[in-house]
Amino acid sequence: MCGVFGIYGHKEAANLTYLGLHALQHRGQESAGIVTSDGSQLSLHRGMGHVIDVFPPEQLERLGGPHAIGHVRYSTAGGSALKNAQPIAVDYARGSIAVAHNGNLTNAEALREKLEERGSIFQSTSDTEVIVHLFAMSQQRSFEDRVADALGQVQGAYSLLILTPESMIAVRDPMGIRPLCLGKLPGTETFVVASEPSSFDLIDAEYVRDIEPGEMLVIDQRGVRSVWPFAPVKRHTCIFEYVYFARPDSNIDGVSVYEARKNLGRALAREHGVKADVVIPVPDSGVPATIGYAEESHLPFELGLVRSHYVGRTFIEPRQSIRHFGVRLKLNPISAILKGKVVVVVDDSIVRGTTSRKIVKMLRDAGAKEVHMRISSPPTKWPCYYGIDTPTRGELIASSHSVEEINQYITSDTLAYLSLDSMVRSVVSARTEATGRSTKRTLPMADEPVDPSLDKKSFCTACWTGQYPIQFTPHPRQNQLRLLDL
Ligand code: AMP
Repeated sequence: MCGVFGIYGHKEAANLTYLGLHALQHRGQESAGIVTSDGSQLSLHRGMGHVIDVFPPEQLERLGGPHAIGHVRYSTAGGSALKNAQPIAVDYARGSIAVAHNGNLTNAEALREKLEERGSIFQSTSDTEVIVHLFAMSQQRSFEDRVADALGQVQGAYSLLILTPESMIAVRDPMGIRPLCLGKLPGTETFVVASEPSSFDLIDAEYVRDIEPGEMLVIDQRGVRSVWPFAPVKRHTCIFEYVYFARPDSNIDGVSVYEARKNLGRALAREHGVKADVVIPVPDSGVPATIGYAEESHLPFELGLVRSHYVGRTFIEPRQSIRHFGVRLKLNPISAILKGKVVVVVDDSIVRGTTSRKIVKMLRDAGAKEVHMRISSPPTKWPCYYGIDTPTRGELIASSHSVEEINQYITSDTLAYLSLDSMVRSVVSARTEATGRSTKRTLPMADEPVDPSLDKKSFCTACWTGQYPIQFTPHPRQNQLRLLDL
């Protein structure tokens, strides 16, 4: 769960990256960082917290130069600490390089052990640093070949931005697990790359196309060129991006996230309709699916829960106990909507089940006669090893409990999940344009054919099915340094 943003060739590169990162804040709230290049030197600033707090105006002013990459982080591998904040920037034998990474490598620990045996010293516990070491040690001559050599050794999910003093490189792993797209400031030679295209809107950049799985895009003074360093494999884009993670105003690989979520809701109503008075979302992520559900079931859509957008990290609970305090900080019911009603409540997923349980209790306390929970994806049974922060199997309620047992735990009248087939069909049918090489192609491309079809096998569905497209063997590490002054 991270977001990356980069810009090449603009006098306000740091400012625009700051705005781009702000638009990607939903992808990670733990730390933020920007590296800029003035053509000969890289400058870096990183900090813990939200983009707006990490980059006061005086910090941004110090980040000079026309090229920049930035990162927002939600730790999935490596733990939460400034030493793991990104981008990572280093000096190596041939110059300076900075890397911003969204995704998780599945063989990072094994590679790291090998590198450490050979004498490498790591400064962080983040898997991204492995890429930097492999790159620095590569014997290849050209910069692009060194990147390809390093990435040829790693497995897992990576949507990467790499900055050198002269160039910016964007790479999406061969399975295209995490999104990455290219944009351009109209009428200029300024290129932008981001995790999601919704971040282009804030800086008036236009979406050009998605970066293809396995594609390496090199942007430098000569322009933009595509390199295809990896053997082609079947696409496996994370479908959870559409269900929950990405912004609804993003289009990923030609699929509108908003339309996908509405379709999920429509399918949910068809599969698991229930006689009710009203349908309400768990805001915000459940809203588009609820609109679809309401449309399909002809039930009134209402906001039965109102969400506060100002919840910080931790709140000290008053000693006097307050009912539903934790969840009420974020969500508050509207009794007038709920009182005496049979309510359908739609959410995108149940992870541990604790939020759903509190929500059901809160709805009943607010007067709901019946509460029917509907989930716009199948039961989450398996952890993600490719960059979404999910707890271990033991903590995922659906890994050890049946739907009926979960229903009893969360105390709803009924609980139903969308089927896997319907989930995939809902996402595929929200496609707005052909995938494969973009129809909007305005840049020179290599001639390699790409399978343009999207089907069940085009997605990673491991968190529901346990079918992992890339194997992962956990490799616990000990003796991790705590840097208390950071
Ligand atoms: P839980 O109480 O653990 O079942 O949490 C369920 C809620 O967490 C749902 O409202 C989801 O929208 C949300 N959710 C799903 N996946 C994640 C995730 N990886 N990180 C944070 N929240 C999530």
